[in-house]
Amino acid sequence: MSKHTVAVLKGDGIGPEIVESAVSVLKRVGELFGTEFELRYAEIGGSAIDRFGDPLPDETLKICLDSEAVLLGAVGGPKWDDLPTDKRPEKGLLRIRKELDLYANLRPAKVWEPLISASPLREEIVRGTDMLVVRELTGDVYYGEPRGIFEEDGKKVGINTMKYTEDEIRRVVRKAFEIAKLRSKKLTSVDKSNVLEVSGLWRDIVEKEKANFPEVEVEHLYVDNCAMQVVRRPSSFDVIVTGNIFGDIISDEAGVVVGSLGMLPSASIGDRYALYEPVHGSAPDIAGQGIANPIATILSTAMMLKYSFGMGEAHNLIERSVEGVLEDGLRTPDIYSEGCKKVGTEEMTEAIIQKLGELK
Ligand code: NAD
Repeated sequence: MSKHTVAVLKGDGIGPEIVESAVSVLKRVGELFGTEFELRYAEIGGSAIDRFGDPLPDETLKICLDSEAVLLGAVGGPKWDDLPTDKRPEKGLLRIRKELDLYANLRPAKVWEPLISASPLREEIVRGTDMLVVRELTGDVYYGEPRGIFEEDGKKVGINTMKYTEDEIRRVVRKAFEIAKLRSKKLTSVDKSNVLEVSGLWRDIVEKEKANFPEVEVEHLYVDNCAMQVVRRPSSFDVIVTGNIFGDIISDEAGVVVGSLGMLPSASIGDRYALYEPVHGSAPDIAGQGIANPIATILSTAMMLKYSFGMGEAHNLIERSVEGVLEDGLRTPDIYSEGCKKVGTEEMTEAIIQKLGELK
């Protein structure tokens, strides 16, 4: 029997509820595929501040470094909002991404046919959309030096620096090519090379790497054009690769195109480690009520199976099971529409687990 180790960080707000759901799904997948998952629980965010005075205690970091993958709920909440910035729950998240050197953020945006009316776009435009934005996560204008507010000729100036080394670009571009190979073999690289030197370097590297992936078709788009095309022809995209700031914006746009926040999974990947978490936050407004939508976290777990453990079949089984329960009309309140059956977190999870067995 194969065995994998997973660090499980529930976090705050709805984090514990949605992570428990995802863990139940993972356990069922383990039974169906003859795989054992060793789960190692640890604290992060506000709950870690309350217990250890630190949003990322050493023990948590050690557990993550000793595991093959990390599954995270969400962190933060009003209880900790008045703490100084470097002591807040979100700091734990930023630190863990840095410590694990997670340089590629994967954000799938897939339209689920039973939820197609949740898209702000017309059905005929959005139908069939299934794209994946690969955003570089550790470089670019968010980290480049010099940065700050300075004074020039008695006036204040704000400065940030867009900076990428060729190694930083190459590793994320390679990752995107590898992922495109596993999907429908189409890669769109997004830059602003008509005005930015950084982007010129980015485009050169994509062109060079293309030779190593002859089966992948490559298209280059300027970021402003990409922003338009994502709403005009979302279903024509497969994998999009881009830098940190452009990816920040394009991935949010792609998420909105396909509908609900409660359905969006994500992965952050490095060479050695990977962390999987829903795109949404800790939703303190509905925490503890048993009504949170667990699907984004369940789909993040599916990504873990595919990208960390090479279990593509299990990933597809989870996606088909989610689609199946949506077709059956089950909806948590955030995705509810008339004529459907409103269910809570537990009932949704049970239904997905039941489907896994039926569809295997
Ligand atoms: P949020 O994503 O937590 O919630 C936005 C809205 O969406 C809320 O009305 C919430 O009830 C709803 N929602 C979110 N996820 C849902 C789900 N799974 N099921 C049903 N409804 C859901 O964003 P926010 O309100 O801006 O932030 C709340 C807290 O989460 C803040 O402390 C923020 O810092 C933190 N946050 C954490 C992360 C993270 O851990 N990665 C990301 C974003 C925000």
